[in-house]
Amino acid sequence: MSLWGDVLDVVFPERCLGCDRVLPQPRAFFCDDCAPQVEEIPTPACLGCHEPGVHEGGRCERCRRRPPRFTFAFAPLEHSGAVARAIQRFKYEGHPELARPLGTLLVLRAKAFLAQAPEWVVPLPLHAARYRERGYDQTALLAVEVARAGKRQLRDEALTRVRATSRQVGQSDEERAANVAGAFEASPTVKGARLLLVDDVLTTGATANEAARALLEAGALEVQVLTLARAVRETRAG
Ligand SMILES: [Zn+2]
Ligand SMILES: [Zn+2]
Repeated sequence: MSLWGDVLDVVFPERCLGCDRVLPQPRAFFCDDCAPQVEEIPTPACLGCHEPGVHEGGRCERCRRRPPRFTFAFAPLEHSGAVARAIQRFKYEGHPELARPLGTLLVLRAKAFLAQAPEWVVPLPLHAARYRERGYDQTALLAVEVARAGKRQLRDEALTRVRATSRQVGQSDEERAANVAGAFEASPTVKGARLLLVDDVLTTGATANEAARALLEAGALEVQVLTLARAVRETRAG
């Protein structure tokens, strides 16, 4: 029986997720060089999108201007340093096997959030063209592992991406919203359900917001968002 009992099913990797170095004993996710570069999202953070900082009324300017359709989003880690390298390797360098340790890491770091989160796990789907290019859908794999490690139910039929979207780097909030509008179609099976939408990285939340909109319009009662990492706007001092 694991340390976490029946709550979590924890699998540690044999190699550092950031730099692929063999770990002396498989009880960590990162080596001693990479571990100090793993930054948690500091609190307080926005009650809507988890952007760190003290915000007026608890919500950041972006969420006040354009309130998200999801109830709230949570990400345990900053998308920087060793975490960004691990996600880069997972997504773009042909390492689908990192889904298991990354999913386990996510579940461990999001324990308190998951204690209140919906049971049904929905991956934020990749478009078929991107899938053919990459050969795997990293978010689908991550969601499988979140469901497994967190002992929740996977509902991968819930959401389909019906339209390809361009990369959103450098786009304004309005351009991002327009870019993802109508990109998702939700299954009628989500009617009356509370859902946990899973993705690897949250940047502005525009894509997660559009996915949540499709799920809610299909009759879902609630959508919460969980990602492994989050981009943070302010650069750290030093
Ligand atoms: Zn390392
Ligand atoms: Zn916000």
